[in-house]
Amino acid sequence: MIIKNTRKGSQLAALLQKEGIRNTRVLEVIAATPREFFVPDALKHKAYENTALPIGQGQTISQPYTVAKMTELLLEQDVQPTSILEIGTGSGYQTAILAQLFQSVFSVERIKALQFQAKRRMNQLDLHNVKMKHGDGWQGWQSKAPFDAIIVTAAAENLPEALTLQLSSHGRLVVPLGKSTQQLFCIDQHQGQLVQKTIESVKFVPLIAGALS
Ligand code: SAH
Repeated sequence: MIIKNTRKGSQLAALLQKEGIRNTRVLEVIAATPREFFVPDALKHKAYENTALPIGQGQTISQPYTVAKMTELLLEQDVQPTSILEIGTGSGYQTAILAQLFQSVFSVERIKALQFQAKRRMNQLDLHNVKMKHGDGWQGWQSKAPFDAIIVTAAAENLPEALTLQLSSHGRLVVPLGKSTQQLFCIDQHQGQLVQKTIESVKFVPLIAGALS
């Protein structure tokens, strides 16, 4: 399948621009990515709404605004990241966005069925710079570390230490933290120290420990 701008994708990008997404590369990729491909058949009519939607297994595809915001944070770094780790592959929508902007994307998912489906979608969209793994994202992906950026798409109750240890010397970790109320954090590795900044309130499913088969 060839990825190209669609009218609905462009309308979604325009909406996100109004909501405050400024990065034109992110907006272009949102416009070019068929979100309906990542949602269940019964919800395809809602695919271009700016909302999270159920994808089965009690999980959700993230809200497009949040996907765009987190991606924008990765592109704002002084040194452009090349190697990205995503925790929580889910539908693969965020993965597909990252794959069009960065050289190498690694993605970990704890639910095997979701990981399998997302892998198929990457192949169908000809996104071959993505490597996926079934496992526990709390542990990151040690053998592929260090990463220039790590993005967590489920909310952790506390900061997963393994992830901070897998950041490169100028790496950035974008992670939602909290339980019922959650904040998006941007944590930078800077001269051997972690410097953290709060971005905004968010709503994610929880980052659960341990992989399921
Ligand atoms: N980026 C995805 C978000 C899916 S929701 C999308 O837009 O579709 C969050 C995902 O994180 C779910 O698929 C859930 O199974 C996964 N997840 C939760 N805890 C995890 C863990 N410890 N390791 C890996 N994945 C995890």
